[in-house]
Amino acid sequence: MIKYKLICNDCENIFDSWFASSKEFEKLKKKNFLSCINCNSKKVDKSLMAPLVIKKSKKLNKKDNKNKDIRAKLKEYKNFIKKNFNYVGKNFAYEARIMHYDKKKSEKGIYGDASLDQIKELKEEGIETDVIPWINDNDN
Ligand SMILES: [Zn+2]
Repeated sequence: MIKYKLICNDCENIFDSWFASSKEFEKLKKKNFLSCINCNSKKVDKSLMAPLVIKKSKKLNKKDNKNKDIRAKLKEYKNFIKKNFNYVGKNFAYEARIMHYDKKKSEKGIYGDASLDQIKELKEEGIETDVIPWINDNDN
C-alpha cells in the first residue's frame, strides 16, 4: 500500500488516500475514479507529494498591467504554498533527498531555493520538483 497526498485543483483541498501501488493510482486517475472528498471534483492530483522548488523570477515586471491577473494567481499560489509547505531555504536539495530516500513521514511538502544544477540532479535521481515564479510581498 502506498499513501499519496492528493490535492484538488478546484477547492485546493489536500487529503490522504491509500492505493495498492503507484500503478493503481495511475489507473484510477485515467479512468476518472479519483475525486475530491470535499467538492467531488475530478481534478485531483498527487503533485504535492513531490517536493517543490521555488525560484525567484524577475520576469514579472511591476509596471506591466497585463501581468496583473497572472500576478494575482501567483500570489494565491504563493500563499497556498506558504500555508501548506515547510520552507527549507537553501537546504532544499538536501531536504528533498531526505524526503525521497528516507521516506520521512512529513505531513507537509517542502519548498526552498535551488539552483538549476540541483534541480537537474534531483530529476536524475527521480525526485520531481516544480519551479514557480516567486512574487515578493512588497510589490503589488
Ligand atoms: Zn475539491
